[in-house]
Amino acid sequence: MRIVMIGTGYVGLVSGACFADFGHQVTCIDKDAGKIAALQSGKIPIYEPGLEQLVSSNVAAGRLDFSLDLKDAVAQAETVFIAVGTPSRRGDGHADLSYVHAAAREIAENVRGFTVVITKSTVPVGTGDEVERIISETNPQADVVVASNPEFLREGAAIRDFKHPDRIVVGTEDERARKVIAEIYRPLYLNQAPIMYTGRRTAELIKYAANAFLATKITFINEIADLAERAGADVQEVARGIGLDNRIGSKFLHAGPGFGGSCFPKDTRALVKTAEDHDVPLRIVEAVLAVNDARKRAMARKVAAVFGGNLRNKTVGVLGLAFKPNTDDMREAPSIPLITALQDLGAKVKAYDPVSMEQAKLELPNVTYCENPYSCASEADALVIVTEWEQFRALDMSRLKKEMCQPIIVDLRNVYRSDEMAKHGITYVSIGRTQASEPVLAVKDV
Ligand code: NAD
Repeated sequence: MRIVMIGTGYVGLVSGACFADFGHQVTCIDKDAGKIAALQSGKIPIYEPGLEQLVSSNVAAGRLDFSLDLKDAVAQAETVFIAVGTPSRRGDGHADLSYVHAAAREIAENVRGFTVVITKSTVPVGTGDEVERIISETNPQADVVVASNPEFLREGAAIRDFKHPDRIVVGTEDERARKVIAEIYRPLYLNQAPIMYTGRRTAELIKYAANAFLATKITFINEIADLAERAGADVQEVARGIGLDNRIGSKFLHAGPGFGGSCFPKDTRALVKTAEDHDVPLRIVEAVLAVNDARKRAMARKVAAVFGGNLRNKTVGVLGLAFKPNTDDMREAPSIPLITALQDLGAKVKAYDPVSMEQAKLELPNVTYCENPYSCASEADALVIVTEWEQFRALDMSRLKKEMCQPIIVDLRNVYRSDEMAKHGITYVSIGRTQASEPVLAVKDV
């Protein structure tokens, strides 16, 4: 099958490389000349475990290539995926569909013969209708079916997620399109990955409902963590105790600094806006957004609480900047509002992240970037763990303690246990766990 992927970002590049690995002929297109030049010279513009090897082997096998020009590629393709960005629209939080609409126009101008156009970007319910309208208006002769195939991969585990999905959702009522999409995913079908065929609008809404539900789960456990902290309970035990119930499930019940990243914040905002347009307020999702926004700055007050609320003349080391481990993606990372708030409270901030520091410098220029966790701890009054990279799970505490001005660790991911920290003589503050070594100071006390 000849496939064109329009948009070669996290989703387009991973999907394109995986489809090529299934044996299809894939051309990945992007408007970003630097990105395409890098890919053509064998460099991968993002950090994603396993991706470099997957791309290079499929390029070498002649199944995967990269181009700035979609004209010839679209003319020859049987299937064109749209995997461009759908960021929050400035000002109102709606999904910005301008990239999707531009891609639809370009497809319409260049398409030849029967072609299935599949939206992989996360788009509000009804976008497929608009893409179809744009294509038929731009090129009334075009023989095109527009389908929806939302993507559920997670950055950091993207290839595994793509090749072993919990489900594949396909939104189309057109029999020819179903056959084409079944053929594309056939290698996964043989592995018994469930493929759910449904209506296009339903498929679009499934993606937003899934992300909003997961964001709600995170926010729920974060609020329970605040209560546990006040009431003398342990949120991790609470999460375990409820997660063992199959109706609830244990995933996405890790209390932390609030959700961020390239999807949850923008998708929950867009879903709320779509619902408003339909005159159906989604009050739970609205509350999730408000609680999560407030939480990020509250985390800085949690750090300040250790010093009586004042961070003047204090140096804080931050471990982890990316919104989660195994990615360099800084989009809406909780570290950004946290560090900004620490600076507002008077702190000098140093930081270390294994892969995202180059990206972080664009967002956070007034930070001293360090070479490793120990130089980040050097001369610091407190060390804050923000992203739970593997390499932060077994830090040499004696060495850290020697480097620091004061041995204080604020662990926003509950990587460590307070009894271990007490043994090292480290003052330890975590999320939703009140132990003897922790000050019983809640954020509201400050
Ligand atoms: P991204 O910003 O990493 O990549 C988008 C790419 O599209 C960019 O490289 C951009 O230059 C390119 N582009 C924009 N307009 C173009 C055009 N007309 N022609 C060619 N290229 C164009 O975005 P992403 O993270 O890959 O997300 C893409 C979509 O997938 C979004 O809708 C997102 O919500 C969704 N999604 C993302 C993830 C994730 O983990 N990142 C997971 C599931 C779904």
